[in-house]
Amino acid sequence: RFIVFEGGEGTGKSTQARLLAEALEARGIAAEITREPGGTPGAEAIRGLLLAPPGEGWTREAEALLFAAARADHVARRIVPALEAGRWVICDRFIDSSRAYQGGAGGLGDEAILALHRFGSADLRPDLAILLDVDEGQVARRLAARDGIESDAIGGRGEDYHRAVAATFRSLAEADPQGFATVDGEGDPSAVHARVLAALAPLLAK
Ligand code: C5P
Repeated sequence: RFIVFEGGEGTGKSTQARLLAEALEARGIAAEITREPGGTPGAEAIRGLLLAPPGEGWTREAEALLFAAARADHVARRIVPALEAGRWVICDRFIDSSRAYQGGAGGLGDEAILALHRFGSADLRPDLAILLDVDEGQVARRLAARDGIESDAIGGRGEDYHRAVAATFRSLAEADPQGFATVDGEGDPSAVHARVLAALAPLLAK
């Protein structure tokens, strides 16, 4: 099974991915955790290019292609082999992040992003995308608290951009209720984790 956590920065994706992988292992389910952009040496190298762009920055098209290239490598070299070996893969971000950031907020449109995904990654989709929904004020407080601890952010984007990201995530989830579970990300990590497990109950029962 392929499970993805989606949402903006500071919504708790990486914490929830880790808690889910631990919960699966505790049930005797082999699971591996990975992240985007990254997850393979090549894709981590591309992550470095995205997080530290050249002085003039990337054009939005080049940025979308770099995300798609990183994903193609990650899918072919890591995700598909793990799924074929019968393992669960828990990924921090996947295609829906590109749809929300580059497609929605960045203005490239959903079709362009999906076309890159068909070309690069054989249109691989998760069994479930879990969208962590956290109030904007709460996110700002979490990001302020982790400032200086983790600085993995593509800089120079205003509040409007992040609002457009959140709005695109919401509309993607509304348009595809089978593919997405929107989970309330407020409260402490163990409370959110319990909601994540509830959202996964149908997949765990199979
Ligand atoms: O997952 P994480 O929050 O660490 O993402 C790293 C950076 O990459 C963030 O600034 C995020 O907003 C950005 N990002 C992006 N487009 C994506 C995925 C992530 O701009 N498709």
